[in-house]
Amino acid sequence: MITKEHKEFQERMRLVLAAFAQELPHRISEIESLWQKLRSEWDSKALQEMHRSVHHLVSNGKTFGYPELSTEARALEKILKSLLQVTTPLDDSQSSRILQQIDALKRISIEQESKQTQDAASSAHDESALLPHGQASSLIYVVEADAEAAQELALQLRYYGYEVEVFNHLDKFRTAVQLRPDAIILMDVEFPEDEMGGILIMEQIQKELAQPARVIFISTHDAMAYRLGAVRAGGVAYFPKPINSTELIDQLDLITASQIQEPFRVLIVDDSQTILAYHAAILEQAGMLVKTVVEPLKLLGALNDFNPDLILMDLYMPGCNGVELARVIRQIDGFLSTPIVYLSSENDFNTQAEAMSLCGDDFLVKPIGAGHLVSAVTTRATRARFLRSLMIHDGLTGLLNHTAIKEELAREVIRSSRLNSPLSLAMVDIDFFKKVNDTYGHAAGDRVLKSLARLLKQRLRETDIVGRYGGEEFAVIMNDTDAASAAKVIDEIRTVFSRLLHLSHDEEFSVNFSCGIADLAHFSDAVSLSEAADKALYQAKQRGRNKVIVNAGD
Ligand code: GH3
Ligand code: MG
Ligand code: MG
Repeated sequence: MITKEHKEFQERMRLVLAAFAQELPHRISEIESLWQKLRSEWDSKALQEMHRSVHHLVSNGKTFGYPELSTEARALEKILKSLLQVTTPLDDSQSSRILQQIDALKRISIEQESKQTQDAASSAHDESALLPHGQASSLIYVVEADAEAAQELALQLRYYGYEVEVFNHLDKFRTAVQLRPDAIILMDVEFPEDEMGGILIMEQIQKELAQPARVIFISTHDAMAYRLGAVRAGGVAYFPKPINSTELIDQLDLITASQIQEPFRVLIVDDSQTILAYHAAILEQAGMLVKTVVEPLKLLGALNDFNPDLILMDLYMPGCNGVELARVIRQIDGFLSTPIVYLSSENDFNTQAEAMSLCGDDFLVKPIGAGHLVSAVTTRATRARFLRSLMIHDGLTGLLNHTAIKEELAREVIRSSRLNSPLSLAMVDIDFFKKVNDTYGHAAGDRVLKSLARLLKQRLRETDIVGRYGGEEFAVIMNDTDAASAAKVIDEIRTVFSRLLHLSHDEEFSVNFSCGIADLAHFSDAVSLSEAADKALYQAKQRGRNKVIVNAGD
């Protein structure tokens, strides 16, 4: 499938490669003149500079599909490296070998100039990783031979805001999955035609799709053979029947949450513009946000403005090297755990080990294929985000925890004050929650907390920030919203919530909440805003609960 994005990518790639080809003669003449300078006057600075230029050719040559250039440059680099380590003046044989190598580089460069750069465009990268990524979706395909059971399951899922389509036959599902490969599949293992029919069809489908389908298996069987089969068919979860619907919803929320996450932010530090453009194009094509830094000394500003999930760091740069930069980054607040991945053509094991022991998280060797680069960055950034997410989220509800929501409030108050835009804070507290626990048990209480968390997330805007402030108390930060509008929105949620039926062993019950709201127009800093919202919440409790009250100052 050739998409518009793919064509654009190829065009960008072609330009990057053309730029490299175009600047190649210039690079080589630069090396030549450095050498002439060295011959007339020996100078270790100039030698280092020459080494760096040659090193560029080694790595870029390989990356951009000039293997011969890279080989010749590497031979030259080897001589220069040995010269860097001794202080004795060079002898004639070394001198003539260096000249020989420079001539070889010039010859290759001239040969390349006459070649079309376009054919390099398609060979320099592998295309498998470059398909556009799937769109976020909350569509679920329920595939289950038992029509009644399928409908019942669908009903529950719709209740939680999922869009559901039911299939009682495998053949109809097969056509549907081609149309919406992004759908999450809830697949029964057993079908009339085969007791592992669900697993077999998923195995085939996974082979046909560009991106693996997300499938959850449900089954009357719990034996190892079935579970193993399910995993092999790409199953991300396995639910034996009767299905625990709370756990199933949790699993679905987890899967959908991971697909609507923001694109990864990758900062690339490299002193070669060409390499930067090349790697940036690959990562952007895979849906990531990329910022490039060509001058290492400008790194600090970029770090703070861009706040990357991961840093790709070149090892050899003028002025300072990648390891030094990594150490600087580690000493800055907030970047202690940002993964730093070195990207260099250095293939000497000791240098890699040393770089790793000093603050690096991984080492990738140039040239690196597009697929490899994308997957290496994705795995590491995913893991870093996951660890960070554990730190800032509440385990039960998945909302921001107390510390995180307070930090958000401080940030948002500063931002809104600067932009002079409205901001509201709503404090929500469940009424008589202690009684819920006492009457229906702690587990039922937990489910109530989760359902309120889910409802808040679902009904509020993407830009609103929701946190679990304490046990049964929630905080909502609403940007661009004054207190009156915030009260209207929260009051609607209050009505819906009070109508939800909760279940504890066959007993149904309902719960409601109270809410206090304050806005930035009346309270100008985070502390007084919090206090004011708390006060309004207290009033709501005093005045009979199940209501929303605004604190408009005195
Ligand atoms: P009010 O209407 O005045 O807010 O009364 P309340 O009973 O909701 O308030 P109170 O602060 O007296 O009790 C809160 C209860 O919430 C007590 C505590 O056991 C319960 N709780 C706190 N965290 C959790 C939790 O994570 N799970 C469950 N199930 N209960 C919790
Ligand atoms: Mg309460
Ligand atoms: Mg409370």
